Amino acid sequence: MPQVYNFAAGPAVLPAEVVKQVQQELTSYQKSGMSILEISHRSSLFTNLQTAAENDLRQLMQIPVDYDVLFLQGGATLQFTMTALNLAHKTGKIAFVDTGHWSQRAIQEASLLPDIKPTVIASGKESKFTALPDIPEISENFDYVHLTINNTIEGTMYHQLPVNLKHQSVVADMSSIILGYNYQVKDFDLIYAGAQKNIGPAGLTVVILKHELLKNIPDLPAMLSYPKQVKKNSTLNTPPVFAIYTAGLVFKWLLSQGGVAAMQQQNEIKAQLLYDEIANSKLYHSPVTVADRSLTNIPFVTGSKELDTEFVVRATEKGLLNLKGHRLVGGMRASLYNAMPLAGVKQLVEFMQQFEMNHEG
Ligand code: PLP
Repeated sequence: MPQVYNFAAGPAVLPAEVVKQVQQELTSYQKSGMSILEISHRSSLFTNLQTAAENDLRQLMQIPVDYDVLFLQGGATLQFTMTALNLAHKTGKIAFVDTGHWSQRAIQEASLLPDIKPTVIASGKESKFTALPDIPEISENFDYVHLTINNTIEGTMYHQLPVNLKHQSVVADMSSIILGYNYQVKDFDLIYAGAQKNIGPAGLTVVILKHELLKNIPDLPAMLSYPKQVKKNSTLNTPPVFAIYTAGLVFKWLLSQGGVAAMQQQNEIKAQLLYDEIANSKLYHSPVTVADRSLTNIPFVTGSKELDTEFVVRATEKGLLNLKGHRLVGGMRASLYNAMPLAGVKQLVEFMQQFEMNHEG
């Protein structure tokens, strides 16, 4: 099998070492004679791996002790609803920053809930979401502000918490950047992320929340209730054992690579290589404002739909997979998550140069 590189936005590339370990352990997990796919979530085999995964994640993200960690299901999409149901119970008002598709999905889902009023306090609409909006000072009382930290489709990213959110309760969707950039957990009241980009297989959703938030949350159906999930340590029902196991292996891999700071450094090098290629070329163009560019999702276009299509076809032939841009923005998109090796980005850049040479004049 020739070497391929998977640039998909999600489900996305996993570290090759982790996939190999999964393969080796698949038929008998820890000499139990049972596959990891078969072990009971009530067994010590599972509770030990869940505890190790949580501890490793705590170490990686330096999660303060007064935060709980949940391993849930339902994807980041369910968190659009769950955050609002649990946390918008004082004023019923949520402030949203509209940075594109996924923040709009969060707004839509919250607006379906009775007694909840989403307010858009800033929007990148004017720039067609190619830049992040300035966030104004907030004088009104909101239960929290919702922020999509990395915009997977538009290719924008907050590098730090905007100043006007410093004294607000902030709920952050970190799905496509978690563990890839060194954010401070204490800046946020709650962080959520679907696993299938930088954490592991789909089916797992990580939620990190300040313990204090659990006070006064209304009584909710168990699966939608943070206090009930925390009380049962994320095992109210059968958890996604395989996804948690694989995420645990990814966390160990990340620790062995030097943790999130090392990942950020690598991600900056990889992204810069690609952004430099785009800047130096006459063919490729990045629509995104330089200061707001994402490290993990990099859209680019040639300006010709036919050429974009040909680019993706030829790249696929060379083993550079899943470079087609999201249907909302077109063109190409390279997702450079933690598990994408520098060699993959170098190969992409070489291919881009070759493709440009073949299409000159
Ligand atoms: N939020 C962001 C930033 C995403 O990129 C995605 C998926 O790509 C989602 C939310 C939805 O995630 P899920 O499929 O886990 O519900």
